[in-house]
Amino acid sequence: MLRELNLYPQWVRRNQPAPVAEEQAAVEIPVEAKTPQLDKPAPVAVVVPEAPVEAMPKTVESPVKSPLVESTPEADKLSWPQLKQQVRDCTACKLRAGCTQTVFGIGDEQADWLFVGEGPGADEDALGEPFVGEAGKLLDNMLMAIQLKRGRNVYIANVVKCRPPENHNPASEEISACLPYLQRQIELVQPKLIVALGKVASNALLGKDATLASLRGIQHDYHGIPLVVTYHPAYLLRSPSEKVKAWQDLCLALKMRGGDA
Ligand code: SF4
Repeated sequence: MLRELNLYPQWVRRNQPAPVAEEQAAVEIPVEAKTPQLDKPAPVAVVVPEAPVEAMPKTVESPVKSPLVESTPEADKLSWPQLKQQVRDCTACKLRAGCTQTVFGIGDEQADWLFVGEGPGADEDALGEPFVGEAGKLLDNMLMAIQLKRGRNVYIANVVKCRPPENHNPASEEISACLPYLQRQIELVQPKLIVALGKVASNALLGKDATLASLRGIQHDYHGIPLVVTYHPAYLLRSPSEKVKAWQDLCLALKMRGGDA
């Protein structure tokens, strides 16, 4: 498992300033002196910090239905083909005008694991598939680390299906417009666990406006489906020192699935 993660020690100068956080400063979780990385060639055996999932507070939060759902296209009774067609034809928000194509989602439509990101970037917009390019490679490594593989018992989707210009966070009205598509995808997939990648996906699914740091390390609940929050792979590429926390989140996710990938 650790070989798949390409974990190896990273030495950081003691007085080096901390990387700019995706949101506010994340809660520090004690780790060993050796910090693993996920995207570099794996050397031999390393001492990997035991993820302190035992110490993580385990609370189940009430599912919150987004109040914005009502303003969106009706998607709650659509079949897979109907839903795909509706997304393809959708012009419900202004993101459609600026993107090449909609990016629906990909993977096993009866998967136990659902990974949800924020929205397509340039590579995804060009190829019509979520999480391609460097962030996609890192997500694939994260999947392999817990013995999962894209397309095999895994479904991957985004909150918004059209690329926000210049990779800006989607606006709340754009999230509101697109969220029913994701909600219908979840209803159709019926995953056993959801991993929300980044603050936008986490807040959209949980109906919150919270920092990622405050949402990590806790077992959430999305309409009866366990949900874990972790960093978006694109953020981890910018802040590799945070990968150890992503590893802890994956360990929590595995634990919630009973260690069964
Ligand atoms: Fe429709 Fe979603 Fe694209 Fe907006 S982002 S146009 S709601 S598919």
